[in-house]
Amino acid sequence: MPKSVKLAKFAGFCYGVKRAVETAKKLKAENPDKNVFVLGELIHNTDVINELEALGIKTINEVPETGNGICVVRSHGEAPEVIEKIQKAGFELVDLTCPDVKKVQQTAVELAKAGYFLIIVGKAEHPEVVGIKANAKLWSENVIVASSVEQLKEFEQEIKTHKKVGVVVQTTQMLKTLNPIVEYLTSISKELHIANTICQSTAMRQAEAKELAKESDLMIVVGSKKSANTTHLAEILKNITKTIHIENDSELDNYKDIIENSEKISITAGASTPQNVIEKVVEQIR
Ligand code: SF4
Repeated sequence: MPKSVKLAKFAGFCYGVKRAVETAKKLKAENPDKNVFVLGELIHNTDVINELEALGIKTINEVPETGNGICVVRSHGEAPEVIEKIQKAGFELVDLTCPDVKKVQQTAVELAKAGYFLIIVGKAEHPEVVGIKANAKLWSENVIVASSVEQLKEFEQEIKTHKKVGVVVQTTQMLKTLNPIVEYLTSISKELHIANTICQSTAMRQAEAKELAKESDLMIVVGSKKSANTTHLAEILKNITKTIHIENDSELDNYKDIIENSEKISITAGASTPQNVIEKVVEQIR
């Protein structure tokens, strides 16, 4: 039986996600007769999406030609043309892009405007990256996305032809991913400007979880397998101690033996994991 069970302080909703979920709920409560739509899943958590649906807040995956009511832009942000489409369709726009993501978009635009060859560190298909890239592309054609040195090497000749190279980072990327990219770019660029835009909430969550992992023989990471920050967190911890990644308490049975044979267990959770889901896991383990 586990002798100690600890819950991380920075487990669960980050402020950007908390703000988005609370504001969406408030919008519907204050406008019961209006349609309230969210473009794309507000957060990567099925229980929360179902709860929002039950309140009458619908998730849509595309902007229709015409519509009425409120359309919410989630914390990941959107491309300018999508914002325009929402407004043209006749929706009232409520932009809940996280302020930290807005900062990355602004920095990317500033670097693009100032003539830097812009590199966005992240996965090309990540919605936040799509939004950052689209904003920067309004000002410059010289914008690329890469999440590894291997990917960047394909652009080596192009990078070398530019005097100034700028870098912004998708907010939930790991330093482990950024550091080798910086080292590589330093070796091939004349002037290099790095904007480390990894969000503090992610950095603090990762730092705390790493410390807990050092003193635990089992780490449990709670959160959706679709959530990039939760998956990153589990990956980091796997290098330090035994780690399992579960979506909720219903998966705990699959790990019964590992749990019973661990003396010190610590629990953390991704930015999109609701408090009640975390609490149920803690309760079951205890
Ligand atoms: S992880 Fe950071 S950037 Fe992303 S929504 Fe949360 S606070 Fe904002």
